[in-house]
Amino acid sequence: MPNITGHTELVGLMAYPIRHSQSPSTHNLAYDKNGDDVIQLAFEVDNDSLKDAVQAIRALKMLGSNISMPNKTVVHQYLDEVDEAARLCGAINTVVNTRDENGNVTGKLKGYNTDGMGYWQGIKEEGIDFKGMKMVLIGTGGAATAIAVRGALDGLGELAIFNIKDKFYARGEEIVETINKNTNCKASMHDLADKDLLKKLMQEADIFCDATGVGMHPLEDLSNIPDPSYFKKDLIVTDTVYAPRETVMMKQAKEAGCTRVYNGMSMMLFQALIAIELYTGKSTPVDYMKEKLG
Ligand code: NAD
Repeated sequence: MPNITGHTELVGLMAYPIRHSQSPSTHNLAYDKNGDDVIQLAFEVDNDSLKDAVQAIRALKMLGSNISMPNKTVVHQYLDEVDEAARLCGAINTVVNTRDENGNVTGKLKGYNTDGMGYWQGIKEEGIDFKGMKMVLIGTGGAATAIAVRGALDGLGELAIFNIKDKFYARGEEIVETINKNTNCKASMHDLADKDLLKKLMQEADIFCDATGVGMHPLEDLSNIPDPSYFKKDLIVTDTVYAPRETVMMKQAKEAGCTRVYNGMSMMLFQALIAIELYTGKSTPVDYMKEKLG
């Protein structure tokens, strides 16, 4: 039972539905470990109640709030400032009540996207310097966009994005245009049905990411990659899925002899730890969190 007093400060989590979220357990474990008198609580907030809920961050002098669906792409209109990566990918998952020189919250709210930061922090924690690397990324949804934009801003050399020709495809073309206009990364968009091109670019790539959700329920028996021959041994292979811990795609990569194969756990952990640091200014011991969260 946390020791809640008149001094305890509040971080929100605004989404709908939200009761299933693991975010409060992760945040509260970290605040406790860091000795911060802070708690996170989840609030059922949809697009209709979002404006009032964001105003409450100011009125209640909250430290900020995590933002999830359906609010990530619309919350920007209620904020005072938006970080560049969040602006370019059009989605915010963290709203910070900025502080003055005395450490008091100001009511000026700034939006960030820590999903992309979290993915790349996970890569850096593996001792990998991704500057100048060539990446193949499958997906153009929320996770993929955040990974693409943050990677491009932070020095990725080339980025080939593949997606099926569904409603997300046009969004991929927009991301590619945004990246080519705003960063030094050379981005390109391709149809996932073009398996010859996918195989060729995967052979030339340094890092691969599947950010589609293929490999998790109800698509847990599927992979976007036809067979293990697509993977070369030294490819860094990542999946944004963390349940199951090992997807069909990850099994294929291991079968092909890849040794650097990672699931979405580190992205999930680091997006939370980066948000926590934005709220409190404190970094959380990573090994402790990994051990506790399993
Ligand atoms: P989204 O709905 O925004 O995007 C879904 C993407 O998957 C689109 O590109 C879509 O075209 C593609 N897709 C859907 N069905 C497909 C199919 N049958 N074959 C090929 N592609 C298909 O979803 P999102 O929020 O970007 O999430 C994508 C995945 O990333 C999910 O598995 C989610 O759990 C995971 N995720 C993980 C983290 C983390 O912290 N590890 C964070 C966010 C999302």
